[in-house]
Amino acid sequence: MNKSTYGSPLVLKGEDADIWKIYKQGRLPVVTLNLTGECNLNCSSCHVSAGRPDPNEMDYDTLVSVIDQAYDLGARLIHIGGKGEPFLDKSFEAFVAYTGGKGMTTILDTNATLITKERAELLFENDVSPVVKVLGFDSNVYEAIVRKPLYQKMLDGLYNLLDAGYGNVIEDNIDRRVTRLSAMTFLARSILEKDCFNGFFEFCNEKNIEPRVSNIVAAGRAVTDGFIDERLTQEEWEVVRNLGGRIMGYELNYTYKKCYITSGIYIENDGRVMADDLGRSCDIPGEIVVGSVRDKSLKDCWDELLDIRRKKARELEAFEKGHEGGNYFGSCPVLFKTWEENRITVE
Ligand code: SF4
Repeated sequence: MNKSTYGSPLVLKGEDADIWKIYKQGRLPVVTLNLTGECNLNCSSCHVSAGRPDPNEMDYDTLVSVIDQAYDLGARLIHIGGKGEPFLDKSFEAFVAYTGGKGMTTILDTNATLITKERAELLFENDVSPVVKVLGFDSNVYEAIVRKPLYQKMLDGLYNLLDAGYGNVIEDNIDRRVTRLSAMTFLARSILEKDCFNGFFEFCNEKNIEPRVSNIVAAGRAVTDGFIDERLTQEEWEVVRNLGGRIMGYELNYTYKKCYITSGIYIENDGRVMADDLGRSCDIPGEIVVGSVRDKSLKDCWDELLDIRRKKARELEAFEKGHEGGNYFGSCPVLFKTWEENRITVE
């Protein structure tokens, strides 16, 4: 591809903030929350084996307390992670109205099958940037992966978002175009073989949707149900990445090592604050628990996290070099910044 033909990348609102600058100022840049384990899909790709609600999920009051504390620590960005479908959490709509009312931006991982016109408007009005699991515009491929006959519902949800006002460039600069909607697909063989990547990128380009393409995370049902066997080779990734670049008109970059989510706090749906996801994909839940937001202040958790991260920096450096999974590519400018430039200092 000729670099001179590149245009400016589409960037999702929320990811346009200078996360590392916020981090260096000592503020908490972002809070990632998983709300529920409940999901109406049964994806063979699901790395968190979502289906039923998890025991002891945080209620609305706990969530509001977390948001208030996060705000006081400087956070203006919330990320609702990809465990379960957030619209199945009964307090989710009130939660969205609350974060929107505080002037915070929320990045929302959703399968979109439950997004009605009213819900799309609620998200639009409350500064939510949805990341919709689209997979590919082929009902057979989609339904074979999600194992529910809900392709049309996903499309309806996506179009409800577009009708609500998503799909417009809201800021057009020389280095980026900010949009409020993202679509996600996997680097999977069934998607490649059915030629779905073309349609995926063409739709994103036409509708000003930021595309993100994820490797399959080797955890949960993705392993037990064999979806992991759909992984593409690195050479095949390059084919997809170049195709995406040609259609979108800008280079899709690899983003794994610079994930902004790892600069913030990651909270499981039972309130546990996870500490050891730094340097890995945000999709892999950590194992070291700093504490629970139910019985510890967010500030105490944050201070402890920073301490652990400083101590673990060298170990993580080695981990990054040996790690093969969890890559994805997209166009987040935060992620474009080099990890080396922004590395947490080893004390
Ligand atoms: S991958 Fe996402 S949409 Fe699919 S079952 Fe898991 S949580 Fe639900």
